Amino acid sequence: MNQDRSRALYDRALSVMPGGVNSSVRAAPRPYPFFVETGDGAHVVDADGNRYLDYVMGYGPLLLGHDLPEPVAAAIQSHASNGPMFGAPTAVEVELAEFVSEHVPSVEMIRFVNSGTEATVSAVRLARGVTGRDTVVVMQGGYHGAQESTLVEGSPGEPEPSTMGIPQAFAQHTVPVPFNDTEAMTEVFETHGDDIACILAEPILGNNGIVMPVDGYHDHLRSLCDDHGALLVFDEVITGFRVGGLGCAQSKFGVTPDVTTFGKIVGGGFPVGAIGGKTEYIEQFTPSGDVFQSGTFSGHPVTMAAGLATLEFCAENDVYDHVNRLGERLRRGLRELVAETAPEFTVVGTDSMFKIIYTRADSPPQSDCCSAGCTQNTSCDRAADCPKTGADVAAAETARWERLFWPAMKDAGIFLTPNQFESQFVSYCHTEEDIDRTLEAYAAVL
Ligand SMILES: *Cc1c(COP(=O)(O)O)cnc(C)c1O
Repeated sequence: MNQDRSRALYDRALSVMPGGVNSSVRAAPRPYPFFVETGDGAHVVDADGNRYLDYVMGYGPLLLGHDLPEPVAAAIQSHASNGPMFGAPTAVEVELAEFVSEHVPSVEMIRFVNSGTEATVSAVRLARGVTGRDTVVVMQGGYHGAQESTLVEGSPGEPEPSTMGIPQAFAQHTVPVPFNDTEAMTEVFETHGDDIACILAEPILGNNGIVMPVDGYHDHLRSLCDDHGALLVFDEVITGFRVGGLGCAQSKFGVTPDVTTFGKIVGGGFPVGAIGGKTEYIEQFTPSGDVFQSGTFSGHPVTMAAGLATLEFCAENDVYDHVNRLGERLRRGLRELVAETAPEFTVVGTDSMFKIIYTRADSPPQSDCCSAGCTQNTSCDRAADCPKTGADVAAAETARWERLFWPAMKDAGIFLTPNQFESQFVSYCHTEEDIDRTLEAYAAVL
């Protein structure tokens, strides 16, 4: 595989951008990443003309794949040609806000921002402003973007910043708790209940191997928040408009958060974030309330048009049926492969998300109840061994993934996320033939 142009570009990039990239994970492929020239349906084509079947899909935003349906492309072009942005409100912001509040029952009102990170920053500020409390509870191994209050690791009693540049004093206001551990969460509320502004949680750990909640976990979070006057904030930046269709993951799990953060798909492939929820909370943002929130590019008309046209297309077409059916076909096929060859792998994912985790557990393969990806079903033969927390995923065999597995899949023309943790996605452009070809590649490489 010739990658001379990518290599030369990366050489130049290393001189002018830290690590040669603008988002850390893009530098993970070894020895260097390929540079993308164009998208084509479910494929990307690199600077040297190599074609890859793409399951990275922009790390989540590209539900429809790289070929946008005609109405989506037309909406983007017509808004771009009106002039890029105005610093005054536009009709399309209202239309997207109405669409989201119609389809996501917990959302009555919404504020659009420019990234998932900005959404979680604002949600934390809102929760603190509304409750007058400082403490934020997060999940160990959860991800809420590059922000001070959540780049925190360690145990509930000993939180530590997870990166240079964050004062210990910030980390002290964050309590990281193991996902799926109801007792640990109860204890945290017994100890800190009066200081907790919110639980900020992904409904599924979506940036860390894809870990599903155990039965009743979110109900437990809901009732703890209710009992202690804290807000339940779901970070649906990755699951929003992907898991559970237009109702999002909260509708799949039947739990109503107070506030939800969105990003990725809701901007139709353009930079976006949003904070939605009950009017009594969202109205606390300025200018109707006193929690300062503002942004030059917020509610950008091209982004709003792309997001609205994407979601309307999903409402009128078989998008979720298609991607979820192919996701299931892929996970089912992977589960069968793994059962035959290597029971130390766990197939995870739901709807159009999938991943294989190298669990290294010497235990039986997933049984019929979890035949299309781990659902934390207690009647599964390996219920005790499948990943339930961020730490379980962190214990996976990452060197094997990065050095052996990922490069071999790339050489087979399949573009997966280059580390063990990030989710992979099926898009509306993928076909059954693509899935079968992918399974053949996995069979050859695993
Ligand atoms: C991607 C992601 C973010 C961060 O969004 P950015 O747009 O990259 O800032 C936050 N939370 C979750 C759950 C995400 O998946």
